[in-house]
Amino acid sequence: MPKYAVLVIDMLKDFIYGSLRCERALNIIPNIKKLVSTARDYRIPVIYVNDSHIKGVDRELMLWGPHAVRGTEGSEVIDDLKPTEEDFIVLKRRYSGFFETDLDLLLRELGVDTLILTGIHTHICVMHTAVDAFYRGYNLIVVKDAVEAFSEEYHRLGLEFMEKFYGAKLVSSEEVIKLITMTI
Ligand code: ZN
Repeated sequence: MPKYAVLVIDMLKDFIYGSLRCERALNIIPNIKKLVSTARDYRIPVIYVNDSHIKGVDRELMLWGPHAVRGTEGSEVIDDLKPTEEDFIVLKRRYSGFFETDLDLLLRELGVDTLILTGIHTHICVMHTAVDAFYRGYNLIVVKDAVEAFSEEYHRLGLEFMEKFYGAKLVSSEEVIKLITMTI
C-alpha cells in the first residue's frame, strides 16, 4: 500500500495575483482545494512547499525580480488554500523543494514513499522538485489538472519531461481522489 503525501507547491499570492502572477493558475485552485481536503479526511499529510526568499541575497531574485520575499504578504499561501494546523510547511529558496530544506527528513519521518504533486509551475518548481524526489527514490504522481504554467507549451513540456524521464504517473485530480479513497 503506497504511503502518500500531497505537496502543494508555490500557491502563493505573488505567484497567483502578484509580481509573477499567472492567470492560468486560477483554474487549478478548485482542484487543489478538493484534493487537499480529501487528503486531510484520509489522514494523508499535506505539505506546503513555499518559496521564501531573502531580500538582497537570493540569486533567484536576480533572474525573476522580487517575488515571495520572506515576511511580505506576497510570500503567503493564497486565502483559498490556507494551510490548517495539521498541515506541514517547508520553506525553500530555490526551485526544488528538496534543495537545502528539511523536506526529505520530514517525508522519511512520516514514512512517505509516494508524492502527489500539485501547484506551479509545471516545468519549474514542480518539475525540479520531481527530479530531486526521483533521485531520492520517491514514486511520483503528478496531478495534471492541479499543476499549471505560464503557457500551455511549458505546462505540456513539464508533464512530458516528468513522465518520460522521472517515471511520474500523470493523473487527473478525480483519479487521484479515487486512488486515495479506495486504497486506505
Ligand atoms: Zn523563487
